[in-house]
Amino acid sequence: MPLWICSACQRPWPCPTRRWELLGEYAHAPGDLALLMASHLAAASEDLSWAAPATLHRRFFGWLA
Ligand SMILES: [Zn+2]
Repeated sequence: MPLWICSACQRPWPCPTRRWELLGEYAHAPGDLALLMASHLAAASEDLSWAAPATLHRRFFGWLA
């Protein structure tokens, strides 16, 4: 996923649909979801080195409850 675009809807990953799915999949393990997003954020920060860190952080964590 080098461009971090949703393969289904072509929107920036995680797209609203994927966020909703992830919240469902990790409803009983929100800590695991946070860890997953942290690892994705680290990888995306390298792939999307031109993106502002605050923007990426909001993208990967701003929707977590
Ligand atoms: Zn999507």
